[in-house]
Amino acid sequence: MTVTQADVDTALNLSRSIFVTLPQRVILDSTPPAYGDAYTPNPGIIGGVGHVQVSQNHTPIVRSQQDDLIHEDGHLFEQGLEDNGFGLTKNYLYTRLWAAVFHGRGWGPDSWQVAIAELNRTGYQWNNDPGELWADMFLIAVRGIYTTVQSPTSVGYVKVNMYGVTPNPAAMRKLMLDLMHEKSPVVYPSPPGQTMVAKSEDDTLLVYQTTDDKLITRDAALNTLGTYKRV
Ligand SMILES: [Zn+2]
Repeated sequence: MTVTQADVDTALNLSRSIFVTLPQRVILDSTPPAYGDAYTPNPGIIGGVGHVQVSQNHTPIVRSQQDDLIHEDGHLFEQGLEDNGFGLTKNYLYTRLWAAVFHGRGWGPDSWQVAIAELNRTGYQWNNDPGELWADMFLIAVRGIYTTVQSPTSVGYVKVNMYGVTPNPAAMRKLMLDLMHEKSPVVYPSPPGQTMVAKSEDDTLLVYQTTDDKLITRDAALNTLGTYKRV
């Protein structure tokens, strides 16, 4: 199975239906002849457009191709929180992640810095990389599903080492939505038909929150009659 731009678009549409701060476009920079693991180049967001690439080196763990691409959206989501005027630091994001996943459970490295130190000591292992934990937690946040069933069609399968913890998709979604809101406090007058609009500090993000707590873009809000509350 070959990864195509259409596959990337499908994954992005799903991810952006929940996490609207993702780039509006993600481009597949290379297309290999056969199935390969997707990865996000550094920097993965260039001029407001996300980029993913596909490697020929297969991770020896298989799940649905869409889940691998949603995982890549997770890396881009993190970069957006760090770069797009949000100004959240990697330290802050990963500290919050660690608290939500491992806090008080007595499992896993004590902190993400300890995990990094261990990688440096033992040699790099992707499945113990805190950045990969972030991207896989984003995946189950988007899916709203976690499964232990590993197969080429598995949805919500986590590849990273969870140190015995069962991740909670709803908790991960709440964490990442909370983080997305933390730096978008500037409130502007509402357009006709809406009650409020929030705008990010760099003027690029407009987010409305519906009364049932769904986040939608400004364009979507303007095209939908309804009442929205302050984000
Ligand atoms: Zn990754």
